[in-house]
Parts: sequence; structure tokens; C-alpha cells
Amino acid sequence: MVLMPVADALQRVLAEAHPLPGERVPLNDALGRVLVEDLAALRTQPPAAVSAMDGFAVRATDIAEAPVTLKVIGEVAAGHPFPGVIGPNQAARIFTGGVMPAGSDTVVIQELTTITKDSVVVQKPAAHGRNVRNQGIDFAQGQILLRKGRRLTDRDLMLAAAMNHPRLRVHRRPKVAVLGTGDELVSPGQTPKPGEIVYSNGFALTALAHNEGAEVLDLGIACDRIAEIAAAVRRAREWQADVLVTSGGASVGEHDLVQRALAAEGLDLSFWRVALRPGRPMMHGRLGGMQVLGVPGNPVSSYVCAFLFLVPLLRRLAGRTDIELQPCTARLGCDLPANDERADYLRATLAEGPEAFVATPVPSQDSSLMAPLARADCLLIRPPHAPAAAAGSDCVILKLGL
Ligand code: AMP
Ligand code: MG
Repeated sequence: MVLMPVADALQRVLAEAHPLPGERVPLNDALGRVLVEDLAALRTQPPAAVSAMDGFAVRATDIAEAPVTLKVIGEVAAGHPFPGVIGPNQAARIFTGGVMPAGSDTVVIQELTTITKDSVVVQKPAAHGRNVRNQGIDFAQGQILLRKGRRLTDRDLMLAAAMNHPRLRVHRRPKVAVLGTGDELVSPGQTPKPGEIVYSNGFALTALAHNEGAEVLDLGIACDRIAEIAAAVRRAREWQADVLVTSGGASVGEHDLVQRALAAEGLDLSFWRVALRPGRPMMHGRLGGMQVLGVPGNPVSSYVCAFLFLVPLLRRLAGRTDIELQPCTARLGCDLPANDERADYLRATLAEGPEAFVATPVPSQDSSLMAPLARADCLLIRPPHAPAAAAGSDCVILKLGL
């Protein structure tokens, strides 16, 4: 049996995945969205030199010999500039954010002054430019501060607002339809009859997709009948899903009907079976403009497949330039035997060690076990044919997120 290497499988999944078209959204709807174009500042910040403190705007030369008395000729608050000019031995009362009046170059904080009726005694000299925020120290008009392909953070939205953009052009969210299959499945909260179990893996798949900024259509559970699975596939197409993720029914058993149902709907299969553990029976293909990922039913397998393939696919569709999962190095917490021909993604916990993080695989790696998956902090990657590795040696991990 030919198993497709993980990297080749990912390449195929991404081969015809292109960033989705753009749309303009208000800043408050743009968190986690991806910029379609580079974003240039529409203004300079701060637009003029302003005071960083409450105090007095002065000329540094006038206070070189302190104490000295200066005449207070005006007041500047944020939003209320002073139209006059500060001449020799003059000062203006100024508050944080107030524009430095012409002629002034330094702010003396009020704690270092004594205020009298219409003058101020500056007790100590201050260096030229002290407590002044110069024009443009944050950014200048025309400067590109956020790049095309960037997934917008909360801080980016603050910056974009300061750059004077009320709306941003971002890629449309990927639309993901999630379908569970199996006669044995009932939704959480119901009372399973003998032989039934609770449908669980779709909730992680949905959450992963949400985390990548996707819109999700929950197609629920289809029982193991070709017609029922096919009907769900058609609902995904009518909804114009960019991606359909099915779970279960992906193996060769006589109840594994997902591929047959998809074939009947016209699936263009790109691969089935990956050199991966857990997740070997994973499948990918296209149905018109819809990408189809068929992940195995075992919850851990379904999660690992979605993590490795769905996440980069959604990032590509969402327009991100950084689509790859970021491997990190850690130290092995125990000895590991040599690996076979399948890449192994071991569920492992991470602990802080003396020099580096230590990754220790959880004791049971059975692909049905959800409790250790939830407890795991990372997937520890064992490449195909990796030789035995000793505790303390370097290993490569993928951190699991939220
Ligand atoms: P399958 O891939 O359909 O052969 O399923 C493999 C195993 O995963 C079986 O034990 C199923 O009961 C279980 N399974 C399939 N789908 C789900 C699901 N959505 N949630 C939890 N377990 C599932
Ligand atoms: Mg099944």
C-alpha cells in the first residue's frame, strides 16, 4: 500500500488553494482577519511635538541657571493649542498631549516648579527637549506599518485606527462545513443507547476552524448510508463551502462510505492514506470549487489531521502569508524506540527543564483517547524511520494552542 508522505500530502492540499477575495470591514470587525493590501499611515503620529507630562513649556536656555522665574503667558491642554510664541523668560502652562507652543522646546514637570499668580519658579534646569514627544516619533504619513497577508491582532487594530483607517480591506473568511458520520453517534447531552457514543470530534474541528477565522456550517451527524452522506455533501455545496471536512467512514470497512458517497457526487480525489500516525486513512479531493478533507473518525486522528492539513489550508484561503505550523525544539523526556515508515505525532506534555522545555509523550498513544489529547501541550514529531532517541536529546514539537 502506498502511503503519501505528510509533506507531499500538504502540498497537494495547498496546490489549488488561493486566497479568497477581499471585502471592506469596520475596524471592530477586523480582529483575526487578514489584510489584502499593505496599509500605509494616512497621517503622522504625533502630528506635532507634544508634551509628555503636565508642567510648563519653556525654552531650555532660559532655565540653564535655576532657580529662575518665568512669566506664564498662556495655557495648552490636549486639543487646545496656544497660538502665541514663547519668548525669552516666558513659559506656558501645559498638560499631557498639549502641542508645544512655538518658541518652546522643553517641558519642566510641575513637581519641579513653584507656581505664583502669573509666573512660575523653575527650581532645576532641564535638558533641551526633556518631556517632549517629537512629531512623528511613532510613525510618519505614508509609512507602511501593516503588511498584506498579516493576520490582524488587537494591537494592529489600535494602530490602524491611529493611522486613520476606519475600515480595512481583508480577505473573506473561509467557509468550512463540518460533517460527522457514523450510526453510533449521538449529539452531546443526549442519552446514548447501548452501542452508541457521543459525537465529539466535530467540536474540535469546528473550534480549530473558528480559531483560524473561518465561518463554520455544522452539518451534524450523517448515519452510515451513502444517500445520507451525499445529501450532507450537497448541503455543503449549496452553502458554497470552501472546505468540507468529514470525519469517520474513511477506512476500508464496509461501513466506511464517505469516499463512495463523495465519488458519487463527483469527487476529484487527490490522495487517500498518508504516512502518518495517527491519521493514516486521511483523504483529500475537490468537488468543484470545494476542497474536501476526509479525516478519520478516531478523535485523536481527526484532530491531528485537521491540525496538520486543515489549519494551513484555512490560513492560505484566509490570505495569510505565514501558513506553516511553527516547529520548536525541546528535549525528550524519555527514551523512544526507532520509528517505522509513518511520521508519528505523539501527544506530549511540556515542562520547563534546566536548559530547555522537556517534552514527554503521554503513556498511551491510542488514537481514540481524548483525555490525554486534552492534557497534551504539544505534538512530538517522529519522522519516518527516525532512529531510537534517548531521554535528553533534542526533539521537534508542534505546540498545541487554545
Ligand atoms: P470510523 O473512521 O468511522 O471507522 O471511526 C473510527 C472510530 O472513531 C470508531 O470507534 C468511531 O465510533 C469513532 N468515531 C467516529 N466518528 C466519531 C466522532 N464524530 N466522534 C467521536 N468518535 C467518533
Ligand atoms: Mg464510522
